[in-house]
Amino acid sequence: MRHQSVVAIGEAMLEIAPVGGGLYARAFAGDTFNTAWHMAQVLGSRASVSYVTRVGQDKLSDAFVQELAADGIDIAGVSRDPDRTMGLYLIELDGVERSFHYWRSASAAKGLADDSAVLEKAVGQAGLIHLSGITLAILSPPARRVLFDVLARARTAGAVIAFDPNIRPRLWSSTAEIRQTVSAMMAVTDIALPSFDDEATQWGDAAPDRTLARYAEVGVGEVVVKDGVRVVVFRADGQNGAVVPPPVAHVKDTTGAGDAFNAGYLAARLAGHPAQQAVVMGHKMAAVVLGSFGARADKGRVKALARLL
Ligand code: ADP
Repeated sequence: MRHQSVVAIGEAMLEIAPVGGGLYARAFAGDTFNTAWHMAQVLGSRASVSYVTRVGQDKLSDAFVQELAADGIDIAGVSRDPDRTMGLYLIELDGVERSFHYWRSASAAKGLADDSAVLEKAVGQAGLIHLSGITLAILSPPARRVLFDVLARARTAGAVIAFDPNIRPRLWSSTAEIRQTVSAMMAVTDIALPSFDDEATQWGDAAPDRTLARYAEVGVGEVVVKDGVRVVVFRADGQNGAVVPPPVAHVKDTTGAGDAFNAGYLAARLAGHPAQQAVVMGHKMAAVVLGSFGARADKGRVKALARLL
């Protein structure tokens, strides 16, 4: 990748997560933000990591931006909306499985691609750009076109684009809209990071190998299919492979496992490792998150993985 600079684009929200005994902890989270955060911790001074989003001008948004900066994430790509603020979600746990309640329909992040020049500047000279189906879902159709144009130009200039479809049907108006938008995204995707259960539901894939083949057929050169506790299958550099996740002894909360996996995988690829090793790193990062409450793991444990890069 041409520069050791990562830009993730999407929405971060206020997270209210259970910590046991009926108590909840406040944090900030969101799929692409979780990935950017874990990448920043593990990459340290090896790369710059920037998060591109839109938040409010209120104290809550200030706290989020301050936390980003304190955790080593570049905030130059965070724009501020005078009228809207950040979205909010609450996690309910049934055992280790989670369900989510959202208050995000009027969030500031929906405006992150309204201004093409602002978005283009925020993306800058990124070597690796990461976004998800949630990033696409929250945008209006015209804003999606702005984003696709910016991505296409960045790609022409040499950026590698990573995409996790992270399909959340309730964020979309119809199945047709999901299919059309994700298909358009494929035209600018270099690395696809789907989760098999989402893909099986959305596209009827019978097995992870079918998901792998489907992305390859539309010209995506690098594909990694996550499947919870089951084997990850991948295709990169013209070769297929598979890596079983190591068992995780005490799973506390599965929130954010896929996002952390993406961070481990992309950080390892950015550091020049082959895909097989990058999947191993993805599993290790996911394991750390599975052992903590909320979508982000203990900072020290994430930083400790840096020696593997
Ligand atoms: P998502 O959070 O997107 O649904 P997955 O559930 O597919 O993602 O999990 C992503 C990764 O997290 C897996 O590839 C694996 O590394 C790890 N993982 C998830 N669940 C478990 C589990 N029960 N035991 C061990 N690893 C797991």
